[in-house]
Amino acid sequence: MKQGGEEPDNNRVRVAIVGGGTSGWMTAAALIRRLPHACSVRLIESSEIGIVGVGEATLPHLRAFVSMLGIDEAEFMRTTHATFKLGIDFRDFGKIGDHYLHPFGSFGTPLNGVPFHHYWLRMRAAGRQDDLFDYSIANVMASDNRFAPPSEDTNSMLSTYSYAYQFDATLFAPYLRDYSVARGVERTEGKVVDVELHPESRDVAALVLESGERVEADLFVDCSGFRALLIGQALKSEWEDWSHWLPNDSAVAMPCTSPAGPLPPLTLLTAMPAGWRWRIPLQHRVGNGYVYSSSHISHEDAAAALVAAVEGEPLAEPRLLRFRAGRRKRSWVKNVVAIGLASGFLEPLESTSIYLSQSAIEQMLGLFPVGGRIADADRDEFNLVVDNEYDRIRDFLILHYHATTRDDSSFWNHVRTMTVPDSLHEKIELFRMAGRISKYTQGLFLEPSWLAVYLGQGIVPEGWDQRADNLDPASLGSAMDRLRAQVAAAVRGMPDHADFIRRRNAMIEMAAA
Ligand SMILES: Cc1cc2nc3c(=O)[nH]c(=O)nc-3n(C[C@H](O)[C@H](O)[C@H](O)COP(=O)(O)OP(=O)(O)OC[C@H]3O[C@@H](n4cnc5c(N)ncnc54)[C@H](O)[C@@H]3O)c2cc1C
Repeated sequence: MKQGGEEPDNNRVRVAIVGGGTSGWMTAAALIRRLPHACSVRLIESSEIGIVGVGEATLPHLRAFVSMLGIDEAEFMRTTHATFKLGIDFRDFGKIGDHYLHPFGSFGTPLNGVPFHHYWLRMRAAGRQDDLFDYSIANVMASDNRFAPPSEDTNSMLSTYSYAYQFDATLFAPYLRDYSVARGVERTEGKVVDVELHPESRDVAALVLESGERVEADLFVDCSGFRALLIGQALKSEWEDWSHWLPNDSAVAMPCTSPAGPLPPLTLLTAMPAGWRWRIPLQHRVGNGYVYSSSHISHEDAAAALVAAVEGEPLAEPRLLRFRAGRRKRSWVKNVVAIGLASGFLEPLESTSIYLSQSAIEQMLGLFPVGGRIADADRDEFNLVVDNEYDRIRDFLILHYHATTRDDSSFWNHVRTMTVPDSLHEKIELFRMAGRISKYTQGLFLEPSWLAVYLGQGIVPEGWDQRADNLDPASLGSAMDRLRAQVAAAVRGMPDHADFIRRRNAMIEMAAA
């Protein structure tokens, strides 16, 4: 943006990013890859302050980001000790003793344009006893600890699933830092101690570093994490608090050694009396954590419960993290775009935080100032998309707490009986009546995800799409038998997850030798 009579160098927009965590380096990498002709990028980070560094589980969308950067997946996974993730296994959420996978993929295949689960509901009502999850390839693969990349042939059943990564979060940002610096991003180690605003426009004019240096830019990206140095502290963008719906405000995290046995291609979440616990298997260790509500359990008790539950040898002391659920009312204000934790946070129940950074980065690239001039319409469009993303994810997360029969602790009693947003209430009613799922054209989460959580947490529809009755039950039953058998056979032929990773790493090492 041109201001104060200054022209950007070489007509390129000068971008300054504050923060070198996952969101800061993702932003830098994307800018230097996609807009090297349109901007110069400088990133300021403070090793004294450090990064959150616990985002280990991701969503399949990150594959597109890695590929957009032109990064070789196998090499990236080897460097960050990553494993494959086919979904999230939720234990004890709907009811103690129950579990289900939220798989990255569909359930069966639509018939005559009608989603498969409607036929399943109809046959179930007629007495057929099988599990819808047996028609999800990702679910069957994950239960059997197998992995193979999906097929690119969209006619193949093997194209109906996807996968994400689980990686060492402390290695992801440095990986992207090396990538970005090698391509021209200027990195400054230093602490921002003041933010100067332009006296008239109230845009950010410059950052003042502890060293005394002033850093001017046209566009500032706030990736300073929960501190929200620019968007919150300097520009006072209001915070919308959602802790009445998502009361978890703390986590204790502790890595441990990998126990003997198979390497599950999934994130395992187990509901706990005051929240839930994660277990994320990586190539070299396991990430563990207990996300909890501090109104329902003390930090000491949560840490003790985590230590008692981990399966391997602890590799560090339990580490406490605090947060609050909510988001900025506006994430792009003046010439500041907030990305990552500075923009908002929804607890990591569905691994959505890195996705939210990715989505904001993609929006910002698409709305990058033309001729260096920031238009109100572009800012409004950005904020609208970010709002939509947050609202939808919020509803999806609340569903995991509200759709439960658990009444064994004050935490579960609270979330089971709380009033939920109208937008979620309407979605649940829509599903309860006839298995219908609200459709989105943008953002998270799509039909199979909602279906998995509704059914997995015990909401079974009373009816189904009437078009599903327009098939003879005997032939429908045989077609379903065949499909189930095909899924099982396809998965039986796939490699073991750990073997697949070992072989791929060995190939990289051989090629490098
Ligand atoms: C308990 C927990 C579990 C999580 N699990 C997941 C998960 O499984 N999946 C997922 O997608 N996400 C997860 N997240 C979220 C994920 O960790 C974040 O989205 C991700 O790390 C991005 O953080 P960030 O880069 O925005 O902030 P940070 O990592 O906090 O980085 C902030 C940066 O700003 C810099 N900084 C701050 N102030 C200054 C200053 N004054 N001067 C200079 N530099 C400054 C810091 O040095 C740092 O470099 C989890 C979060 C928590 C709390």
